[in-house]
Amino acid sequence: MAEQAVPRPVDLPSDLRHFIDGKPASSVDGATFPVADPVTNEVYGRVAAGDAADIDLAVAAAKRAFTDGPWPRLTARERAKILNKIADGIEVRAERLAELETFDTGLPITQARGQAHRAAENFRYFADVIVALHEEAYIVGDKQVNYAIRQPAGVAGLITPWNTPFMLETWKLAPSLASGCTVVLKPAEWSPLSASLLPEIMAEAGVPDGVFNLVHGIGEQAGAALVAHPDVPRISFTGESGTGQIIMRTSAENLKEVSMELGGKSPCVVFADADFDRAVDAAVFGVFSLNGERCTASSRVLVQREIYDRFVEALAARAAAVKVGMPADAATEVGALIHPEHYARVLEYVEIGKREARLVAGGDRPAHLTSGNFLQPTVFADVRPDARIFQEEIFGPVVGVTPFDTEEEAIELANATKYGLAGYVWTKDLQRGHRVARAVQSGMVWINSHNVRDLRTPFGGIKASGVGQEGGVHSIDFYSDVRAIHVAVGDLHTPQFGKQG
Ligand code: NAD
Repeated sequence: MAEQAVPRPVDLPSDLRHFIDGKPASSVDGATFPVADPVTNEVYGRVAAGDAADIDLAVAAAKRAFTDGPWPRLTARERAKILNKIADGIEVRAERLAELETFDTGLPITQARGQAHRAAENFRYFADVIVALHEEAYIVGDKQVNYAIRQPAGVAGLITPWNTPFMLETWKLAPSLASGCTVVLKPAEWSPLSASLLPEIMAEAGVPDGVFNLVHGIGEQAGAALVAHPDVPRISFTGESGTGQIIMRTSAENLKEVSMELGGKSPCVVFADADFDRAVDAAVFGVFSLNGERCTASSRVLVQREIYDRFVEALAARAAAVKVGMPADAATEVGALIHPEHYARVLEYVEIGKREARLVAGGDRPAHLTSGNFLQPTVFADVRPDARIFQEEIFGPVVGVTPFDTEEEAIELANATKYGLAGYVWTKDLQRGHRVARAVQSGMVWINSHNVRDLRTPFGGIKASGVGQEGGVHSIDFYSDVRAIHVAVGDLHTPQFGKQG
């Protein structure tokens, strides 16, 4: 279609290779896989398809850099300087990064720009954290001093999903490198493009060879080999809950420490006394930003009966007015979904929703976008808690609304899925806000706010949404081994076995 002919970014890389020990590399067996953009679904390039042999090389390089290289032994300040240079490198490329990300993932350009800046901030933030880090010390009377030190754990395996790829890669790279680990990153196969800027950013910043390694590939091959590798003591994974379970099973073989950031089906609970307009703004943004491909999306909106009809009407009207369009267009609010396979899956949920609930907005491809993975923002009302669209993560611009009468019922509904990532509570009653926030079973709750997160706060889910916390010092702890050191400074009595005479 002429209207959908999108110009490709200039100098679009079409041969995406691994980066191992400071050098670009093809796969050992020469294998590649194709990658397409989500607007034309035409192949724009080929990506090196890593498997166990490539992972072996990358892990060996990372292990050498960890054992023999300077990185883990640098002072915090020295590493922080390099992390800040990485942030500089990201910032000067922010526009290019956003352009590539938008082209590759279908995310609206304005949102991709925000993600590029957040990626730089991830490095600046963790640079600050490590120079300000303090350790524990305990004085045991006048006999002993005990203290604990963190030491980098070794080679960290980082496995990332296709939604907001670059931002999530840096969310793992920044703390792992800050902690002194060396890393092997395995980006998602549907969105490998923005990671191709990382090698030059790292090299320019002065990251020594072997500290940062990148292996592309299919999850079940490259990802699985990284998880199974005995020389990788940490796996930080973000992706689907089912994949997380597989990774935990494999990690058990080597007793690896894992950090799991998994799926979600987060509730947005709106009480009748809430600021109606702000709650509508937040509900709309919470589920339709990032194309709805957002782990913390408020994909279940629970509304108190007194305002239910009015809220559904407002949500439907706003959804119908959301601008769906070309990802590179600055006016676009919802772009194209990542891949035809994912698009088909989301459409299937829309069909299921039509049988399970009342469709009040969207439900189809926008009339003006006759090809590409586009979907109208879709709202279902009267969604029952046993509906599949209430229980299952859709990961697209689809939201379900469910009425409730009492606070107890709201909490029960909020907790009625296997997930527990985020929650949002809207009420002017402060006490109720806190009460409900505590009762909602999820790792993060916002009261009268959409998802705005300070990097110092813990990030993570409970139930099927995750294991462990990232963010702030939690991330540094994950990438570190702790050693407790006990020093006798006084006359410490030692029982004298064998001296009974
Ligand atoms: P996915 O689980 O299919 O893939 C994620 C990554 O794991 C990819 O790099 C993939 O190649 C790799 N992988 C797949 N199988 C593997 C295996 N057997 N061993 C090792 N690696 C393997 O997830 P996705 O579809 O890319 O991402 C969407 C999911 O991610 C959604 O469920 C979303 O909620 C979740 N997510 C969670 C967070 C969070 O912070 N909690 C953030 C973003 C996305």
